Amino acid sequence: MFILFLGAPGSGKGTQGKILAERLGLPKITTGDLLRAAVKQGTPLGREAKKYMDEGKLVPDTVILNLIKEELAKPDAQRGAVLDGFPRTAPQAQLVDATLGERGQRLNHILLLDVLEEELVRRMTNRAAQEGRSDDTPEAIRTRLQVYQRDTAPLIAHYAQRGIVHRVPGTGMIDEIATEIKRIIGR
Ligand code: ADP
Repeated sequence: MFILFLGAPGSGKGTQGKILAERLGLPKITTGDLLRAAVKQGTPLGREAKKYMDEGKLVPDTVILNLIKEELAKPDAQRGAVLDGFPRTAPQAQLVDATLGERGQRLNHILLLDVLEEELVRRMTNRAAQEGRSDDTPEAIRTRLQVYQRDTAPLIAHYAQRGIVHRVPGTGMIDEIATEIKRIIGR
């Protein structure tokens, strides 16, 4: 089973994705974490990605498409996975659809975490104080929200045509949201 978490930055994809992946015993693939690890290690990928990430812009598809291919090819990801942070653009969605399609698989569920923009900003600003993420500055937060609306939100319509998008209210207690997701997935 392949499950994709969609939602604006700060909507809780990472938190809910982790809970769901652990419950279902599936690996979670998180492009943001992979990129942050590459930045920390100073690999060529990390050096290329850092300038975009710090500004809140998307790392170009020329770079990300390879990363996605590698991750989906891993033995762990053959039976299913929870996808967090990708696909985030139309070309990324095409790659994921095509890769799974070649294997006779598909995205089974898309969970869209719905959170009002003022709450998103509040969460990211709080997180900045706690974790010091280099893209939680006010300018980068603004850019990330704009980029989400422009590049990623259109994927909702793409997947809605297939009837696999579930809207989940993303505000409230973490375990209540997790329970709602469990109800939607049916396991
Ligand atoms: P958030 O969704 O809170 O902005 P992420 O951890 O998902 O945080 O992503 C952080 C940054 O990493 C993004 O702003 C972007 O620069 C980069 N990034 C992560 N995933 C992708 C992706 N699939 N395509 C392009 N850039 C990505």
